[in-house]
Amino acid sequence: MRIVLLGAPGSGKGTQAKLLVEKYKIPQMSTGDLLRSEVAAGTELGKRAKAAMDAGQLVSDEVVLGMIQARLSKPDAKSGFILDGFPRNIPQAQSLDAMLARLGLPLQLALLVDVDTDVLLKRLTGRRNCGSCGAIYNIYFSAPKTTNKCDKCGSTLTHRSDDNEQTVGNRLKVYQQQTAPLVNYYKAQGKLRTVRGVGAVSVIFKNVTDIIESQIRPLADVMGKIESAAARQAAKEKAAAVAKAAAAKAEAKAAAKEKAAAAKAAAKEKVKAAAALKIKPVAKKALARKAAPKAKARKVSKPAAKVKSKAKSKIKTKAKAKKVK
Ligand code: AMP
Repeated sequence: MRIVLLGAPGSGKGTQAKLLVEKYKIPQMSTGDLLRSEVAAGTELGKRAKAAMDAGQLVSDEVVLGMIQARLSKPDAKSGFILDGFPRNIPQAQSLDAMLARLGLPLQLALLVDVDTDVLLKRLTGRRNCGSCGAIYNIYFSAPKTTNKCDKCGSTLTHRSDDNEQTVGNRLKVYQQQTAPLVNYYKAQGKLRTVRGVGAVSVIFKNVTDIIESQIRPLADVMGKIESAAARQAAKEKAAAVAKAAAAKAEAKAAAKEKAAAAKAAAKEKVKAAAALKIKPVAKKALARKAAPKAKARKVSKPAAKVKSKAKSKIKTKAKAKKVK
């Protein structure tokens, strides 16, 4: 499933994103978290982003888009993603749509976690984080048992540098001016759903998952059926191609065998002809020898022929003498 979580800073969309990751085993992609780790690592990007973050302003689109593009290109994004804190303005949303179209992973749902501004102020200024295990507390609504200590791992809690009152004021203003217009952007696409972000986290989460199950699951099922039909067809086509290739190979093999046999026969004929040429003089002599007694016989018969012709001339002479008489 591919979701954008929308909501003002402090709406609790980060908490809901973490619960969704656990339930559906798909990655959360939070530009705020990515930027904070760049700042903590002291990278060039982090240094460029820090001033804007500390002032409660948006970091440049160029920086954020580069970061999110790299994140969405990782193989785990194929199984789905929960975008948290991105997009933050219309140009980012348009770039995201283009990016996802290129990746063939269009967005399925934009879920707005809706919270009133006075609650947001308390949530942000009262928020405390555990840097070790990631647990989140609020000194007004869900305070740790021991002040500033994590209930889960005992680490000291931190107060985000941009959770002070002035920065929080700026962040909420920026949200109203730049991010809130995304509600209409996704409404126009028919992808917007809203959940009230006030009350117990588990109840909010139940509402979130109800929306997901009713909006995305049926779509995912249909997509799954289409994909498996396409996979079956592809497998069928592959098997046919393999069979065709095997038949062509067998045919080529048979033709080659036939050709080789013909060549072998021709060579045999050639050898025979050559052998015949070599044998010829010997054969002539043999014929001559065979013919020799016949010649003798003819020689022997010559005198007989002479006798015959002499007898003939005698008869002729006798006939002439008769005529004279
Ligand atoms: P967040 O944790 O989402 O409230 O983000 C903390 C700060 O990071 C914001 O106040 C911005 O300065 C910056 N930031 C986070 N996401 C974005 C974004 N998509 N575009 C611009 N700046 C951002």
